[in-house]
Amino acid sequence: MLNLYDLTPAQLERALTEIVSPPFRIRQIEEWLHVRGADTFDSMTNLPRDLRTRLAERFAIAFPQVVEVTPPAPDGSRKYLFSLPDANRIEAVYMPMGERTSVCLSSQAGCAVGCTFCVTGFFGAGRNLTPSEILGQFFAIQREHKIAFEQTNIVFMGMGEPLLNFENVVASLDVFFRSIAPKRITLSTAGIIPGIDQLATLPRRPNLAVSINAPDRKRREEIMPITRKYPLDELMMALRRFPLEKGRDLTIEYVLLAGYNDSTADAAQLARLIRGLQCKVNAIPLNPDPKLPQWMLRPSEEAIDAFVEALVERGVRVTVRRSKGRDIAAACGQLRGKSEPLPRHKSAPVHGRHA
Ligand code: SAH
Ligand code: SF4
Repeated sequence: MLNLYDLTPAQLERALTEIVSPPFRIRQIEEWLHVRGADTFDSMTNLPRDLRTRLAERFAIAFPQVVEVTPPAPDGSRKYLFSLPDANRIEAVYMPMGERTSVCLSSQAGCAVGCTFCVTGFFGAGRNLTPSEILGQFFAIQREHKIAFEQTNIVFMGMGEPLLNFENVVASLDVFFRSIAPKRITLSTAGIIPGIDQLATLPRRPNLAVSINAPDRKRREEIMPITRKYPLDELMMALRRFPLEKGRDLTIEYVLLAGYNDSTADAAQLARLIRGLQCKVNAIPLNPDPKLPQWMLRPSEEAIDAFVEALVERGVRVTVRRSKGRDIAAACGQLRGKSEPLPRHKSAPVHGRHA
């Protein structure tokens, strides 16, 4: 049966028009779905009972199942584990940040990009999430914590590469935009150039964050093999032509790997790379993991400070991600969708690149 949560707002309107009238009833149903995230037709209490029955005969409204919620970490963040009908597992993270709340969503189960410092990639390509699987992560967390939309940020920084699941991510964005301003939503990409150019054509765009992670082509190819397909200089050109609304910045994400890309000389090189770009840098000290190559370590606090200082001296705006959820293995690059140990055969080739 057709799951209404897999439709874009325009498709939903068309599907409903076939069996629902008058138009204000359609508006009510859209509100139940796209604003309130209702998961049963029966909960749509302002609809006549026979309409609810007719809808239930014709359509499904289904979200992924929450199978585990971790206890809150010291910073209050919690990881939500969901099971999908095909037994895939995905994760989302609830992150209270004072007045505001951030919700980190997955866009794919697994990731084909295979960055060598990222645990998600070890599970292989996985598959694209459907719009209902993306929306369901958000609404499960929103309902549980009763987060007000005005105080919510959404970040696509969980499992997967959102620009390799463009259509479904955009369908979910169109729903989120009903209640959350585009400037409160951030999509993070490993630098899929055609996806960035396609995003640029949308009438309403989320913020764009790009994982640069290395100050030069050679090192970026080492830790992000996708660089061979989408070269760093071409990526920088794509970022320079990306249209930015007034007051908005690109975010340049930069994972700091001890002794590899965290020196003050690396900071100077990064500053040159992004010169003239309307952006801020988000430095992300590596979240270490036993599955990562042994040499991949988090820099010392002194090294992080020196790196940041070197950027600031060059007029670069920079923040350091405090790695929300680190204590519960819910931080960036630690979303793996399973609690069991990683399968060896999948991690071996990734390690091999550094052997
Ligand atoms: N695929 C997208 C979004 C998900 S990854 C992307 O790559 O941008 C979100 C962020 O986590 C990226 O900036 C990535 O570089 C970072 N990340 C991945 N593994 C990490 C790790 N082990 N420690 C710290 N950050 C990591
Ligand atoms: Fe995929 Fe992003 Fe992890 Fe790279 S960092 S493997 S693109 S999820």
